[in-house]
Amino acid sequence: MSNSERYSELLHQLEQYSYQYNTLDNPSVSDAVYDGLMKELKSLEAEDPKLINPQSPTQRVGGKLLKGFEKVQHSVRMISLNDVFSPLDVQAWVNRMEKLLPGADHQYFCDIKMDGLACALIYQDGVFVQAITRGDGSVGEDVTANVKTIGSVPLKLRISKDYMGFLRGRTEIRGEIIMLKKYFDELNKKQLADGKQIFANPRNLAAGTIRQLDPKLVAARPLCFKAYDLLREDPAEVPTNSYAYNALFELGVSANLRATVFNNLSDVMRFVNDWEDKRRSLPFETDGVVIKLDDRAQYTRLGTVGKNPRGAVAYKYAAEEATTVVKDIVISLGRTGAATPVAVFDPVLVAGSTIRHASLHNADEIAKKDIRVGDTVVIYKAGDIIPQVQSVIEKLRPRNAMQFSMEKELARQYPELEFDRPDGEAVYRVKGATGPILLAKGLEHFASKSAMDIDTLGQKNVVALVESGLITDISDIYAITKEQILGIDRFASLSAEKLLSAIQSKKSPPLSRFIYGLGIRHVGTQTAIDLANKFRRLDSLGTATYKELKDVDGVGEIVAESVLAWFIDDDNQIMLTKFRGLGVWPKDAETVVGPLAGKKFAVTGTLETMGRDIASERVRALGGTFQTSVAHDTDYLVVGANVGENKLKKATKLGTNQINEKDFIKMLS
Ligand code: NAD
Repeated sequence: MSNSERYSELLHQLEQYSYQYNTLDNPSVSDAVYDGLMKELKSLEAEDPKLINPQSPTQRVGGKLLKGFEKVQHSVRMISLNDVFSPLDVQAWVNRMEKLLPGADHQYFCDIKMDGLACALIYQDGVFVQAITRGDGSVGEDVTANVKTIGSVPLKLRISKDYMGFLRGRTEIRGEIIMLKKYFDELNKKQLADGKQIFANPRNLAAGTIRQLDPKLVAARPLCFKAYDLLREDPAEVPTNSYAYNALFELGVSANLRATVFNNLSDVMRFVNDWEDKRRSLPFETDGVVIKLDDRAQYTRLGTVGKNPRGAVAYKYAAEEATTVVKDIVISLGRTGAATPVAVFDPVLVAGSTIRHASLHNADEIAKKDIRVGDTVVIYKAGDIIPQVQSVIEKLRPRNAMQFSMEKELARQYPELEFDRPDGEAVYRVKGATGPILLAKGLEHFASKSAMDIDTLGQKNVVALVESGLITDISDIYAITKEQILGIDRFASLSAEKLLSAIQSKKSPPLSRFIYGLGIRHVGTQTAIDLANKFRRLDSLGTATYKELKDVDGVGEIVAESVLAWFIDDDNQIMLTKFRGLGVWPKDAETVVGPLAGKKFAVTGTLETMGRDIASERVRALGGTFQTSVAHDTDYLVVGANVGENKLKKATKLGTNQINEKDFIKMLS
């Protein structure tokens, strides 16, 4: 899907959500889901500003006005706030302001962000005359009759000798109409008891209530008002936000007592972090902290971008949900041969940690949620719980997204294996495989000549070790003791010592041999070398993305999926941790700088003086790359005896240099 197609689909979907949330007060998804898609929309707009549509939610405040209320123009636009999610984002915000107001000294006014319905209260000579919702930011709805029923809205401002000026002329007080959590819970309990639908959250219930046409209904629902702003016609009368809050208290309007001014960002972040946990004990819902420049002249000078002011941001706390796109579904094979499908994502931050993949458990689970490659999904992670795919946003599904078939995928990703699904089980397993058989095969492969080259650990010894129950995964061979080996019939003192010293002498192998030894499906010696050359360190290979893997020469879709699936598997991760603990770890690969550096070779036909494995080893020793077949980037095709015509034709078509064995040997020497 192109960026512009994705952009218009996101736009359409966000508009739908915004309508349900802002106009119907009945959201169908959580704020985290909305924010996740909004973030993606913003990054598409930042990447290509030509895409920006004037209807984009980045450009205008969400609400559509309801019929039945009089429309009122706001004296000053009621705006929205740009979200930030990390200290880095906050720093970037400050840097942007620094560019526009170089050298300015900033004080930051921080307040808890209340999750309610924004409303402007108009006082004329200290008397409440009108309440207007935010609406679309420029025009709101007149909800005076309803707001009058809210006890915490003073119908007259208190007389305060320090702020007498605000009791003359027009004073606008902006704030949030909220429903306290305890009343929300009580109302929902009652709804349940009456067999009625429960309300989604206090914010939408508050908003829905205030936009009821009957004030009696509003009066029956406990709402409260908390102010966060005070406006006068002459802005100079309110020099700072802290001054505005003091005035609000003195005038008898409830505002947040915890709002504080800080001189530097580390204190701001301390406030933000402090409230991350403490916010749960607040009587109302909050999803973050509002950080504004305290100096209102500075704030005004910075102006706005779209619907957001440059001089303020909303710091949103890490949500336990997020949206991302399923890039692939790979199947990992556990130690017992169980096949587990795993979704691979664009990395995404959920509850403070970056999530790259999530187990989809089994074919039934995928079918139930109908998860497909290309789907936008909601992922969920609470506390230390493993991330899960919660649901699919079907409306954002690409047209060509195919339904997932476990059987087809098993056949595609593991063509050499057969699987079955025992009756009554949800899981597919490798046919005829048991844990010990797979372990023995894996260990034999690990010890083989092309891998760790542990002589004495041939098939018979491997089987004896596995049958003894001394090892549960390959790494255990480095932990076994002589006494334990002597407990196995096959071994005497000398042979046990020989085996142990052979194992212990191979603790720091070249990276490519170790990768090959891990037995990742479809990763043969050459691919292991290519991966080692590309990633240099095992850790880097382990965190490589699908795209990074596919970008490696000679690595296609299947190999990339297989590598991902291997490193995703929990058992394999445990094994790697054990290896490290036992001091067994591959050396980082070094760049081989030799006379053949950057040159790619392929061989066709039979060579007289050496086999292909030797040929490839010698090419690599001199810094070159050995390819298994001719590709568009092959520099030399070495032509041996008995070559089929077709292969030569391909090389000729691609314009590859063709050399004979003699010339090849000359290059090698
Ligand atoms: P915002 O998150 O951009 O915040 C701006 C608003 O915060 C201001 O207008 C103000 O009313 C309010 N606010 C609360 N406390 C404040 C304080 N102490 N100081 C200053 N302002 C304060 O709000 P938005 O633009 O109205 O809407 C975006 C929000 O709505 C997001 O949280 C989004 O997740 C949610 N949303 C959800 C859905 C959904 O389907 N779940 C749909 C649309 C929007």
